[in-house]
Amino acid sequence: MAGVSRLQYTTETRLIRVMCSGRVDLEFVLRAFSNGIDGVLIGGCRLKECNYVTHGNYHALTMALLCRRIMEHIGLNPERLRIEFMSSAEGNRFAEVMGEFGNSVKELGPLGKGKGEGIDPNELKSKLAGITKLVPYIKLVKNEKLASRLENPEEYDKLFTKDEIDRLFSEVISYYIDPEKCQACTTCAKRCPAEAIVGGKNLIHVIDQEKCIKCGTCFEVCPPKFCAVTKISGEPVPPPLPEEKRTIVRKSKEK
Ligand code: SF4
Ligand code: SF4
Repeated sequence: MAGVSRLQYTTETRLIRVMCSGRVDLEFVLRAFSNGIDGVLIGGCRLKECNYVTHGNYHALTMALLCRRIMEHIGLNPERLRIEFMSSAEGNRFAEVMGEFGNSVKELGPLGKGKGEGIDPNELKSKLAGITKLVPYIKLVKNEKLASRLENPEEYDKLFTKDEIDRLFSEVISYYIDPEKCQACTTCAKRCPAEAIVGGKNLIHVIDQEKCIKCGTCFEVCPPKFCAVTKISGEPVPPPLPEEKRTIVRKSKEK
């Protein structure tokens, strides 16, 4: 509507259309910041006015609240991310919000160098890369809260607290296959959604921690008689078994 009505708003923006604000993933926002974008504005339909049962705008809201806390955690000013709700007929409101947001981002200054920030660009890049890698894990752990339908802004600040997010990152869970227990049944490797498990017939399986998205599937599917996958929290993961020591010599073959 803003375009049809020839309404003016800041030209320093790039619009990315999505079918629903609920489609805006946490990863998209982190990618924008990783690419050096100074601010992200998510525009969604008004709450309670979604035409579908999905009400994706509530999801966009909880995702934005979570992302703002994560931004605080890594030292970015959360004001760089804003979510606003408006109908497609409210061209004036859209132009106004874009103008306001553009000005507030300009006042904040370049990403990482704004008020209360001061992060080295390389450090910021590596922090954003680290968090992006953990997105599937974060969504899994915070799944219940992300599905909340917040009705009023007073609830916004309470949904995710600073301590909770600090704890989320200090207690990140990793998965490790105990080489003494793994029987190379291959179940975990077949079920891993990230192809993060290296193994094969008669080979002790090993998790590639770089690829692992911490979904916990291997932990759940490893047969109870082997119980070879363990959860590790707040401690370093033991180094992987060297390749030349991964072959399992079965007793029947030894004879
Ligand atoms: S937790 Fe296990 S199943 Fe999930 S990605 Fe990591 S290795 Fe794969
Ligand atoms: S499911 Fe368990 S026993 Fe089977 S290969 Fe994976 S870790 Fe080893």
